[in-house]
Amino acid sequence: MQYKYQQGIRIIFFITALSLLYSSSLYSYLLFHTVAEIFSICIAFTVFLLSWNAQRYITNNYLIIVGTASLFVGFIDLFHTMGFKGMRIFDYDYYATQLWVAARYFESIILLLAFKFVKSEKKVNTYLFFGICTVVTTLIMFSVFIWKIFPECYVKGVGLTPFKIYSEYIICLILVAAIIMLNKNRDSFESVVYRYLFLSMICTIISELAFTIYIDNYDISNLIGHYFKIFSFFLIYKTIVVKGIQEPFEIIFREMKQQEEKLFEQNRILTNLSTIDGLTGLYNHRHIYDRLEEEVKRCSRNKCNFVVMILDIDHFKNINDTYGHLTGDKILKELSQIFRDNTRQSDLVGRYGGEEFLIMLAETTLDDGVLVAENIRKTIENHEFVQKIRLTISIGIGENCGRKVSELLEAVDSKLYIAKNSGRNRTVYKIEEPI
Ligand code: GH3
Ligand code: MG
Ligand code: MG
Repeated sequence: MQYKYQQGIRIIFFITALSLLYSSSLYSYLLFHTVAEIFSICIAFTVFLLSWNAQRYITNNYLIIVGTASLFVGFIDLFHTMGFKGMRIFDYDYYATQLWVAARYFESIILLLAFKFVKSEKKVNTYLFFGICTVVTTLIMFSVFIWKIFPECYVKGVGLTPFKIYSEYIICLILVAAIIMLNKNRDSFESVVYRYLFLSMICTIISELAFTIYIDNYDISNLIGHYFKIFSFFLIYKTIVVKGIQEPFEIIFREMKQQEEKLFEQNRILTNLSTIDGLTGLYNHRHIYDRLEEEVKRCSRNKCNFVVMILDIDHFKNINDTYGHLTGDKILKELSQIFRDNTRQSDLVGRYGGEEFLIMLAETTLDDGVLVAENIRKTIENHEFVQKIRLTISIGIGENCGRKVSELLEAVDSKLYIAKNSGRNRTVYKIEEPI
């Protein structure tokens, strides 16, 4: 919707500009011609500036060559404008026609010859090409203004010379050849670029044909010719904008997005590594501590309660000694799964130390916590582990009661100690009376 809206505005803007251009011809054809030429010269210079500065991103040699040559075509067109009949800058009224022919030869030959480099892997040497264009342009200017050897194109009272008329046909033929080459090399251009180039060449041909039939410098076919010249330059400009600005930016943004996603993923992995225990997949000691700190703060704000239990395997050393460390590891994993299965999503289950685990039950009273602890203890007591191993655990449990994390853990640990010393396989929640 937004795009269609912008497109509509652009079309209105373009039509208004062209209408204003036309109305200028009603006042004075000289005004129309000067404005129209300056318009296309500005486009030509812009094309050059864009392609020259974006040549790092433009991979297609054809566009670099055409873009660079635009400066010189624009330069000759500038002198064509200044030499136009009625401008009275130069002593001769028809330099403009000669310079027009020269610029169109230059432009069409470049549009054709540039195909020679379209498939080349090597990037064209733009400085060398710039130098060649400078020499050719200088020769053209000298042959017109100084040596005066450029063939006559318009004779006062007679009209266009055969050289001028045939030249326009030859230029059209060169452009037709360029279109054929464009089709042959279609695979070297994206469809939008191909379309713009194709239309630009067609516009130049129409413009040239219009100029073969004009009688006077100020007539309607001259006007149409200039309109189509503007179209053709504008289409080249669009090509360079697509390849030199839009696409590189799209590529940069795409790469940035990919990098961002990669970074996000790496961050996730790093966060996992720093918070998750490698063997059991439970939270590690550091993360448990951080989360407990958060929970203490949250509960002091919200006046809520939570319960912490530390669970320690009874005589785990014996299991390791009897069945080996690897089996011991498998048991630790199996146990972790039991803890997960018997707690809620909102609870925190972590590996507190070697064979010690910690479970924090959020929003829970001590009585309810003891029920959960007992349930876990009994489940483990009745569970048959790998290699039919059976084991038990001892649990110390306590509630936060506004204490600091270290104090709470100390209290729970001392209950675990009591559980161990009073026969193991039990839950202790009060210092005096184990269950
Ligand atoms: P208690 O009932 O008093 O807790 O006896 P225990 O043998 O379980 O306790 P003790 O602290 O003497 O020994 C803990 C054992 O846990 C020793 C150690 O080999 C084992 N352990 C600690 N971490 C791991 C581990 O990652 N893998 C394995 N397989 N064993 C571990
Ligand atoms: Mg133990
Ligand atoms: Mg222990």
